[in-house]
Amino acid sequence: MTPNDLNSHPLTVLSIVVPCFNEDAVLKETYSRLSSLREHLVREGKIAHGSEIVFVDDGSCDRTWELIDGWVRGGAPVVGVKLSRNCGHQNALLAGLTSANGDAVITIDADLQDDESAIERMVDAFHQGNEVVYGVRAKRASDTWFKRTTARTFYRLMAALGVRTVFDHADYRLLSRRAIQYLCQFNEVNLFLRGVVPLLGLRSAVVHYDRRPRFAGESKYPLAKMVEFALNGITSFSVTPLRAITLLGFAISLACLALAIWVIFVKLTFPNAVPGWASTILPIYFLGGVQLFCAGVLGEYVGKIYTEIKRRPRFLIEKVAERSRSISVGRPQGHRFHRPVRGKVQRTRAAHGENAT
Ligand code: UDP
Ligand code: MG
Repeated sequence: MTPNDLNSHPLTVLSIVVPCFNEDAVLKETYSRLSSLREHLVREGKIAHGSEIVFVDDGSCDRTWELIDGWVRGGAPVVGVKLSRNCGHQNALLAGLTSANGDAVITIDADLQDDESAIERMVDAFHQGNEVVYGVRAKRASDTWFKRTTARTFYRLMAALGVRTVFDHADYRLLSRRAIQYLCQFNEVNLFLRGVVPLLGLRSAVVHYDRRPRFAGESKYPLAKMVEFALNGITSFSVTPLRAITLLGFAISLACLALAIWVIFVKLTFPNAVPGWASTILPIYFLGGVQLFCAGVLGEYVGKIYTEIKRRPRFLIEKVAERSRSISVGRPQGHRFHRPVRGKVQRTRAAHGENAT
């Protein structure tokens, strides 16, 4: 970046949002690395002194919140957002994005799998006019074969179903303030950020980095959660499976027609032929299976309509810890912590600004 570029963007306030679910094993290291990086970027004149790290505690039951609150009390440039329960990775990210103050907001996982040094290149890309900067994994050799294969199959399937996602990009990205405002207009309860962000239509860039192994602790995405995430992604963004069912039904009807023609042909040509057991029983089982499968796919979409129609809040903020004070939420409209997108802020104490932590 040239000094001229720096002068034209002297005071970018950067927020780094980190969703945390039972991450006390790794969080100290994450905090230390992100703080050093923040200081480095401030010294370089790339970001403003008021830049912050926003830790979102997604209903952890270990010491995650104690650590975050301790840093806030110690005067670190940290904001803590505590959700009232585990709302899931995507909703925790959204809670962080809507609580952050920055002109540019970067989301990064707590486990240090995503190389934090790419943040500087993301900020440079932002200064060059990009409002969305995707962190894309150049290498993911550190992931297990299973994780790598299932993830890549998922990206390919999404592409085949006509959903625009960025290959090998997870939730490590920079969004401008305007991008977050656009994002806030997407009101779906079943949030799938990787599908929504490309729909914002803003100028974007890609920054490559090498994916590392988890620094400490265990993955918070067991197989069941991964399958749920993938199903959510597909059914929230594509009606192709429903069309596939129609096509399948059509194909099976044609096959049945052909079978009927064959039966008539056998009947007329070989008067003594006894119709086979297999040709009677097999289609019954086969059609039974197809019908159940189709009912399941339809059920997925009906279930989605059901959860969307209820319009439940996507996250509930129990409390927020900030540098100058540590207060419960429930502040007047217009305050930065009162712009959640369909997320609800829960009033934990009656008076505004009262100490809650
Ligand atoms: N996470 C979260 N809520 C959850 C599950 C995960 O906030 O319900 C956070 C987790 O703390 C981490 C990030 O989401 O910062 C990604 O999770 P993880 O690294 O366990 O997933 P993986 O890399 O194994 O897919
Ligand atoms: Mg991880």
